[in-house]
Amino acid sequence: MALDPQLLEILACPDTHHAPLTYDAPAQTLTCTECGRIFEVRDDVPVLLLDEARVPAEGS
Ligand SMILES: [Zn+2]
Repeated sequence: MALDPQLLEILACPDTHHAPLTYDAPAQTLTCTECGRIFEVRDDVPVLLLDEARVPAEGS
């Protein structure tokens, strides 16, 4: 299963920066290039909700 590349192009982080996301096909996740939040892809549907995102360890 893979996301449509055209869909991926229009996807953005739901946070205020709306940064592009990097798709990890094997993991079925989308990672924000700005804040590093990890969003799951469930049944080919990206779950772009801040409440559902996994937040990486706080760094900067
Ligand atoms: Zn983000």
